[in-house]
Amino acid sequence: MSARRILILGPPGAGKGTQAARLVEELGVPHVSTGEMLRTAVSAGTEVGKRAKAVMDAGRLVSDEIVIEIAEARLGKPDCAGGFVLDGFPRTAGQAQALDAMLERRSTPLDCCLALTVDVETVVERLLKRAEIEGRSDDTAETIRERMKVYEDQTAPLLEHYRGMGLVREVDGMGSPGDVAGRIGEALG
Ligand code: ADP
Repeated sequence: MSARRILILGPPGAGKGTQAARLVEELGVPHVSTGEMLRTAVSAGTEVGKRAKAVMDAGRLVSDEIVIEIAEARLGKPDCAGGFVLDGFPRTAGQAQALDAMLERRSTPLDCCLALTVDVETVVERLLKRAEIEGRSDDTAETIRERMKVYEDQTAPLLEHYRGMGLVREVDGMGSPGDVAGRIGEALG
């Protein structure tokens, strides 16, 4: 597997976090999840956390300004020099532009954009189950619908952007985590 700078794209509940966790273990690179970083900021009660909490609970997107800043700071850390798995970033055209510019400045382009494809109804079920187990405050039926809409409107168009760069490899995200991991392994060659 030669790809080391990997972006996982897919709707909420597609299993991005689960697959990213497996990949980073296999590749020995950091898992960069803006959702996790934002939740950490919320728990820690930082300024960013205070500004992000209500927006996250409503299932909407935190501002590009905040998210780009935390993503760039994380990707600039030395442990990302050998690669990373990006999960949940970029989610808007502005974020994608900022990421491209940053990676270009460092001459470290993305190797691959894994696009997890799923059936929306299954995804909503997965999210509701996760809500029971993890008690995430943004996993309610209402916010799940909002997050799906936000994904379709703002994030799904990024697939075309990365397709244009020749980076997209589509992976069927249905089935067990092990099945999906197997397909990702094949897609990454
Ligand atoms: P999911 O993929 O299940 O929606 P995440 O953990 O990736 O979960 O994100 C949770 C929430 O954090 C999002 O609904 C959004 O409010 C916020 N968030 C995470 N990443 C971004 C981002 N790149 N841009 C804007 N908001 C983000």
